[in-house]
Amino acid sequence: MKTNYIFITGGVVSSLGKGVAAASLAVLLQERGFSVRMQKLDPYINVDPGTMSPHQHGEVYVTDDGAETDLDLGHYERFTGVPTGRLNNITTGRIYSSVIAKERKGDYLGATVQVIPHITNEIKEFIRTSEGQTDFALVEVGGTVGDIESLPFIEAIRQYANDVGRDRCLFMHLTLVPYIRAAGELKTKPTQHSIKELLNVGIQADVVLCRAERDISKSDREKIALFGNLPVSNVIAAVDKDTIYRVPQALRDEGLDDVVLKHFRLGAPKPDLSRWGALADFITSPDRKVRISVVGKYAGLHDAYKSLHEALQHGGYANKVGIDYDFVDADEIEKMDDTTLAQRFNKTSGILVPGGFGARGTEGKIRAIQYARENKVPYFGICLGMQMAVVEFARHVADLPEAGSTELGKPKDPIISMMTEWDTTSGKAKRAADGDLGGTMRLGAYPCEVVGNTLAARIYGKKDKGEIMERHRHRYEFNIAYKEQLEKAGMLFSGMSPSGLLAEIVELSDHPWFVGVQFHPEFKSRPLEAHPLFASFIEAAVKF
Ligand code: GLN
Repeated sequence: MKTNYIFITGGVVSSLGKGVAAASLAVLLQERGFSVRMQKLDPYINVDPGTMSPHQHGEVYVTDDGAETDLDLGHYERFTGVPTGRLNNITTGRIYSSVIAKERKGDYLGATVQVIPHITNEIKEFIRTSEGQTDFALVEVGGTVGDIESLPFIEAIRQYANDVGRDRCLFMHLTLVPYIRAAGELKTKPTQHSIKELLNVGIQADVVLCRAERDISKSDREKIALFGNLPVSNVIAAVDKDTIYRVPQALRDEGLDDVVLKHFRLGAPKPDLSRWGALADFITSPDRKVRISVVGKYAGLHDAYKSLHEALQHGGYANKVGIDYDFVDADEIEKMDDTTLAQRFNKTSGILVPGGFGARGTEGKIRAIQYARENKVPYFGICLGMQMAVVEFARHVADLPEAGSTELGKPKDPIISMMTEWDTTSGKAKRAADGDLGGTMRLGAYPCEVVGNTLAARIYGKKDKGEIMERHRHRYEFNIAYKEQLEKAGMLFSGMSPSGLLAEIVELSDHPWFVGVQFHPEFKSRPLEAHPLFASFIEAAVKF
């Protein structure tokens, strides 16, 4: 099989939703019978986004093979259902480390190591991992054309098209066509300039996708086509949508998939997008909603909890109920008295504490968990949210008032603490107590044995005990030395690592729905196939 390549670049401004556009095109191709693979090339110098604050970069998406990647990979997986991994995301940092390591080993045989050809070759080698795997490879270049950082990537894709043949490559450029209120007009000039900028580095855009607030008139499209040196049919409007799950249909309506197939001289049956349409209609106008309060610390930052937000929507769709997503700042809970706290959660049907790092806000999270436990509000704790649920239970039920996590201080009873060495045999995670911060976590998919006859077993559809695989991203663990004491007090350890040493799932049997998981189920939830934990949590919230 020869793979066709679609390279996606961005222009004018960042944050135009290149990832969603690329993933939506991938859905259209899949629905027309083609197989797809997606890659993201990130121009920043961090080796991976693992060390970046969610304030800077949004969530870090974790793959089965333990790669810490850009959140666009979450879109790719949610839209296409194709799992991603290490070979789907690369950064300038990783490219340079690899080239420098080769140079130190003498692999370049005395040559002067340069951006062209050594860095560009390394990038092309990465892209080439797609060859022969699928009908289409969609390769998204992060950043905006004209940035200094993205130049080697743009140069590499230009060369790549030359290497494999221009007829096997399509360049799709996503730009912004801003609406100027004072003039009452859409402006095409930034797009014209951006197409030229791309041409300056040797790339003629084949398709221009124009992000706009409102529909783009025929004459504006003609203008872009004329200046951009492409047929007017290949100037596609991408008008803002009420939900990202409507984008595949919107691009279909504009004829994007037809233009793409025509470019590659391919024919295929029409796509069936009815399932996506039903999902989008439901998400934007559900008959009723349940309020889920998410207690975290990145207030107002949607991207910081991207997968979580999506997984809740999926869980809602599975139960035919909309999600009233209520973000609660953990710091604020710390300052509230009991009456204010009860008022704050008055309309809440489910409380969720997501993953997180560092001490700030943790006491507020613990209070929210205590509220959920005592008032029998469905509670879902993910990673840090599981650890804090264990701390809360230890302090208030298991007679360990000074229990805590060593991540947050030096507690008398370190019931959450760090192991100095992880399972080094799998090669997935290595850890030295004094090692670098980057790459020191338990990362990726690990097996968990679900204990029979528990809520967890019912949720995962396991009659007796059974194994599941879930993705991890954490440094700290439940300290097994305290297991018996917590069990005696009524905490059920319903999921354990095969070694029996690492707690994976905890629950409370005298509560309608109280589950804490050490892993991140949100990464594996799909729009049309909600993760069972999210589906069950929302079901409990509906019943509350
Ligand atoms: N900070 C905690 C740990 O490192 C939890 C991490 C998380 O929630 N992803 O173990």
